[in-house]
This record gives sequence, C-alpha cells and structure tokens, in this order.
Amino acid sequence: MTRLPTQKSRRIRPTAPPKPTVAGKSGAPAAGKSGPGSAAAAAATVAPASPPGRPARPPLALYAHFPWCVKKCPYCDFNSHPLRAAIDQDAYIDALLRDLDGDIARYALNESGRRKRQLAAIFLGGGTPSLFSAAAIGRLLRGIGDRLPLARGIEITLEANPGGVEHDDFAAYRAAGVNRLSLGAQSFEDAQLAKLGRIHSADDTRRAVAAARAAGFDNLNLDLMHGLPGQTTADAGRDLDAALALAPAHLSLYQLTIEPHTAFHRRPPRLPNADRILDMQRALTAGAARAGYRRYEVSSYARPGMRCRHNLNYWRFGDYLGIGAGAHGKITVGAAAPRQFPPGPLPPTSGGRGKPDAGTAPAAERGDGNFSAADHASSAQKNPGAVQRYWKIRHPGRYLATAGGPRALAGARPIADADLLFEFLMNALRLTDGFPLSLARARTRLPTAEITAALANPVNRRWLLLNHHRIRCSATGYRLLNEILQELLPE
Ligand code: SF4
Repeated sequence: MTRLPTQKSRRIRPTAPPKPTVAGKSGAPAAGKSGPGSAAAAAATVAPASPPGRPARPPLALYAHFPWCVKKCPYCDFNSHPLRAAIDQDAYIDALLRDLDGDIARYALNESGRRKRQLAAIFLGGGTPSLFSAAAIGRLLRGIGDRLPLARGIEITLEANPGGVEHDDFAAYRAAGVNRLSLGAQSFEDAQLAKLGRIHSADDTRRAVAAARAAGFDNLNLDLMHGLPGQTTADAGRDLDAALALAPAHLSLYQLTIEPHTAFHRRPPRLPNADRILDMQRALTAGAARAGYRRYEVSSYARPGMRCRHNLNYWRFGDYLGIGAGAHGKITVGAAAPRQFPPGPLPPTSGGRGKPDAGTAPAAERGDGNFSAADHASSAQKNPGAVQRYWKIRHPGRYLATAGGPRALAGARPIADADLLFEFLMNALRLTDGFPLSLARARTRLPTAEITAALANPVNRRWLLLNHHRIRCSATGYRLLNEILQELLPE
C-alpha cells in the first residue's frame, strides 16, 4: 500500500526506504587502488550507455540491513531485534553476499544482460551495524566490490551507536572502506536518553565524535530527535546547540512519532502538542541555518557539499538493491521509450493505489517467496522500464537459512504506471530544491506536458513553484506537503 510521507519524518529506510573519498587501505573498495572492487576497477567497468533511443536507468545504490541491537528502544519500529546471544557475524556476512548474488542475477544486470550496473552509494544500516567487527564489515565491502563495479569515490556509510563503539573500532572501520559515519545521538540530555531507552549518554556521543574524527572521519552525520516527552522549544534548541558544537558535516533532525507495534504505542508518553512541535521545527531549521547547515530535505541538513548521496538517490527516485533481513529494494527493470497518456487527468490504476493487480503481479507478489530470475525477465519483457519494489524475509533466523535462494524474497510488486508519478513526487517533493522536469520525465517516462498538467492545481495555488523547468514547493507548500500529495493521489 502506498504510504504518504510525513513531515514527522523518521530515519530513512528503503521501505517506500543516500561524502568524501574511500579509505584506501586493507584491500577496501578504495579510490585509487587497483584490483577487484577498487575505484580503478570500477571506472573500467562502468556500465555502458543505454542503447540509442532508450533513456538510461537511474543510478543504483545498495542498502544492507543488520537486524540486531543491544536492546530494543521503545519507540523503534524498524526490523531490529535485541541481542540474545553472540551474533555469528561470518554467517550473516555470508548470507548478505549470497543475497547480493541473487539480487544481481535478478536486478543488477544492464540492458544487454551481460554487464553489471555500477553502485553509486552503499549504506550499512540497521539495527546496529556497528555491532559487527571492522573485519566483518571489511569482508562485506570487499565482497560487494568483487561483485559490482563501484563509482569512483563512492560514499559508504555505516550507522553506529555512540554507546557501543570504541576508538580503535572507528579506525578499523575506516581502514575497511567506510568513509561516512552516522551516529544516533538523538539527544544530549541524559534524562531524555534514558526515557528513549538508549544505551548511551551525551558524553558517549561526544567521545564517539572525537574518536571518529581522530580516525579520519570528516563526513559525519548526527541523528537528533525532537518532540520528546515533556520537551520545550528551548530544550530542543539546547540539544541542537550541543550537536552543532560537535561540528558534524550533516544533521538529521527527526520528530519522535509513536508507531504501531512499539512499547511507546502500548504505553504512550506525553508528547508536546502540534503547535509546540511546529515551533521547535522552525527554531531548529533557523538555528541550523545560522550555523551554516542548509535544510535540503524534510529532515536533512548539511554543510555545503555534504548532502547524503545515498539518501539523495532515494529522493530522486533512483534504484537501490536491498540485502539483509527485511531489506527493501526498488529497481527499474529495463529502460524503455517514453510513454504517452491521453490528455487529461492521470489514468486510473489497474490494481488500485500501490496495490498490485493480482492478475499480472509476479509470483512473489502472491507471497510465496518464489520470485525468480525468470519472473523478472518476463516482467521486464512485458513492460520494459517498469519499476518494481521487492523485500526480503524479516526474521533474522529465517533470513539466514534462506538468503540467496528464492525463499528469502518475501515479496515483490510492480509500481503501476499510473502510480509512478505519484511515487516519484512523494520522494522528490521532499527536497527543498525540488526537481527538474527532465528528472520527472526520465523516472516516470511521461511527457513533460503530462507531468505539468498533473501538477496544475498546486502550481496555480502557489503551493508548487515552476521556474526554469524545475518544480519545488513554496514555503507554504512545504508545510502542506502531505495535503498536496493527498490531492495528487491517483484515484
Ligand atoms: S538502536 Fe536504533 S534500530 Fe536499534 S532499537 Fe534503537 S532505534 Fe531501533
């Protein structure tokens, strides 16, 4: 089912789910090194241009999910499981690589079916990937580099918990090829961290940042939450100031939301009301801007040149492979000529909004875990240029037992042509700069006139601005993003 985004946004996961140079040590997929997986090898194996007359497919990123945490936070609805015993790290890395082999066979070959598509970014998320040793992460990155060409200077992000990483670990991750760190600071008030069930303190975050810097990480993101129990705008401002004092390259400012199936949902804490949240968000955006961090997406703020490439690929409706328990992927199955709809409103979907047409859905859509390379090939043949989403089995044990085989693929669904523009907008309108019409055309295969016709109403109301062939939200439109998307929802 298609889900609307919300400005109460939370951490990005490739569900509906983006930096400097690579480390260049220890056989990592590093810029300037030769050998499998190196940037030099990557440059030599970049997928060739699409055949004449066929638009190129979007950039391809890779998300790898690590589904364990020391303990489960009461607000968290991610696929994360509290550690009950030591993780067999080698077994999970093996499973990820088998999973990747399966995805490559199904999804990562280019139009000729012989060359592999190049990876533009890698994100190791969770859960808590930093529970895995640098040796394990290094083996995964080498395995990825052995299997797919990597873009020169590829961004490789690792999520880390400030309470669970030691100084030496950061240096080893860096040597393994990780070149961007994302630390879950969440708050700098220890009392709030305790309420959030976090295992770290504010001082742990400060120490982790210092250690990461000492290890050579300049590209550092801090996650910070607001709208916390009993929090005032002044409290949120102090949290921001504490984060800014650490001078990260990037800030992700998320509102705490209460999600189903979480401990907070069963016993909700008392949260600030909507007006106070809005005040906080205004204060945070202004405070970040004063410190030189530009808001470029609903929750994302960066110093010049430090936007997260991996997440940008999501918002620009790029492709991504998803490996790991519960990981999601989105893939364009083959480039095709632009499509043309008759003039008028967007055509109706055959299977309902975001809902597959049972008659034409691939096997895995029926939930039988048997979506094969043959299904993929036949789907691509029937509708070249179509976009598919797919997802893996969530339970870590079952994932470990099935990774690489068809049963690890829990489901897949094509995005109906009629939903493609909406899904593109749901992502691209989150960007403060919006998007060029040429990008919308490339991702949806719709002619420009069809795209602008679909957006006529919000443009006429000045919720969306159309300038120099680029669409973006006005200040009012950005606040009304959910309403705009509701209005654009296909019937
Ligand atoms: S550390 Fe992150 S992924 Fe793990 S339970 Fe807490 S919020 Fe969820």
